[in-house]
Amino acid sequence: MAVPKRKTSPSRRNMRRSHHALVAVQPQECTNCGELKLNHHICPACGFYDGREVIASED
Ligand SMILES: [Zn+2]
Repeated sequence: MAVPKRKTSPSRRNMRRSHHALVAVQPQECTNCGELKLNHHICPACGFYDGREVIASED
């Protein structure tokens, strides 16, 4: 089995982990109703996704 020749220094380890931070979800405005929604999700307010109604609204 291939094995690292040297122990990763704390500096190297921390440099590697510098990209690991989590970012908070960034809600976007629905293009149909303007409500904040998550990207790649059906709008919970109007039921639209990709410009068409996916969930029938009760009206
Ligand atoms: Zn909407």
